[in-house]
Amino acid sequence: MDLRGKAIVAKYAWIGGKIGEEVAIEIDEKGVITNVGGIPSGEVLRLENEVLLPGFVNSHSHAFHRHLRGRSEIGRSAADTFWKWRDNMYGLVADVDKDVIYRYCATTFREMLAAGITSVGEFHYVHHANNRFDLDGEVVRAAVDTGIRLVLLETLYEQAGFDAPPLHPVQERFVSSYDAFIQKIQELRRENKHPRVSFGVAAHSARAVTFQNIKKLYNYAVAENLPFHIHLEEQPKEIADCQKFLGKTQGPSDILLTTLNLGEHFTGVHATYTSAANMRALASLGANVSICPCTEGYLGDGIPQINEDLPISFGSDCNNRICMLEEMRWACFSQQMRGNSRSVAALSAEKLLSAATEGGARSLGLAAKVGDFQVGKYFDAVTLDLNSSTLEGSNAATIVDALIFSCDNKEIRRVFVGGKQRNTF
Ligand SMILES: [Zn+2]
Repeated sequence: MDLRGKAIVAKYAWIGGKIGEEVAIEIDEKGVITNVGGIPSGEVLRLENEVLLPGFVNSHSHAFHRHLRGRSEIGRSAADTFWKWRDNMYGLVADVDKDVIYRYCATTFREMLAAGITSVGEFHYVHHANNRFDLDGEVVRAAVDTGIRLVLLETLYEQAGFDAPPLHPVQERFVSSYDAFIQKIQELRRENKHPRVSFGVAAHSARAVTFQNIKKLYNYAVAENLPFHIHLEEQPKEIADCQKFLGKTQGPSDILLTTLNLGEHFTGVHATYTSAANMRALASLGANVSICPCTEGYLGDGIPQINEDLPISFGSDCNNRICMLEEMRWACFSQQMRGNSRSVAALSAEKLLSAATEGGARSLGLAAKVGDFQVGKYFDAVTLDLNSSTLEGSNAATIVDALIFSCDNKEIRRVFVGGKQRNTF
């Protein structure tokens, strides 16, 4: 189904932070919304039994990790930590070439589309196979071919730890010098002008990039108006190693808060062990935090200390499970279980949905393009089936809560990116 040049009217639609009824949306030939809430002209698709939401925006993914599925090793041994999982992941990287990364990414992106994810921030750090940076273009090609909207977060990786220990042989596939890396980004940005592809930069982590180059890269991102992402304090070891290296009590978030002029371009990923005080500081600066509850549970990381004012979004990260509805409710459930409360950081169904759409768009620098149904933005959308047994009996007042806390991917009917349906494989 192609809605470009047509209009859609849904029984229920998420508009302006609430559910509207019988809302019409007109879409032009480029897939951009031209009218919301008026009387539709021309050909109209009526969704009598579907609820229409903006497409989900996945702010943190490593597409190839999906192919570790079935090798969780959960429950086998106390030695199976995050770091052991990382060794398994390195085993997967060892065999990656151009064809393999294309196939890994395309499979994952198709699964994301089926789950209502219309934009993904791919945190890409496996750059080299037979030649320098020969894998980056394959990620773009996989996104273009599958139809997902991609923000390729080109990731700088310099070293194996704060004190630059010898590299693991697999890490050779990640590393580059700062200058070669910037040159590659400039090249990619020049070569790729596809309307569904844009770019951002990332420092892999404070352990993999020097603080000096994190600052340089962040300043480059702000000057170029690109999103900047970094894995931040996912494990206590990162903070302990940083303190040991600096001979001080400061962890990565302390250093970033004091040396960078943080703001909306910045996204810290995970922030699992970031102090509540630093989380408040990030919120006051308008910096984003991407949390990945399914992965953080899967890897046994922990639960971040989020607060009501923190701009959050959700990532599927290791992609062992791809379901944004599950990310949303686990973000809420984990906070509630830790807090013995049914109201932590004001995480209502509405707020969770907003984080999974507008929050993701903000983190990926896509706020002017997607995240909600507004004139001038692309029609990226997902619909769910009101005739499903799960949603039977829902009405305008109860539907959002029912979607977030009761639904799964199986209720998803149609997924549109730029006005064109993309979940028909
Ligand atoms: Zn990650």
